[in-house]
Amino acid sequence: MKNKGKSEILNKKDLKKFRPMKGHPVFIAEHATATCCRNCLYKWHHILPNKELTNEEIDYIVKVIMTWIKNEIK
Ligand SMILES: [Zn+2]
Repeated sequence: MKNKGKSEILNKKDLKKFRPMKGHPVFIAEHATATCCRNCLYKWHHILPNKELTNEEIDYIVKVIMTWIKNEIK
């Protein structure tokens, strides 16, 4: 992990991680579940914005998104 320009770079990396495809349903889900960006993650899920996500946090976010998607496509 490189340390230059820290929070900016981490945010960009995280966004990439959570947006693998443009127009994918996960895109809508991110906004519906407030997992679209670090501000929303902090506001709604109390995940601090200026640190790297832990595996637990990533699992949690993925679970939240997947639960939303499953409800949507029912
Ligand atoms: Zn957001």
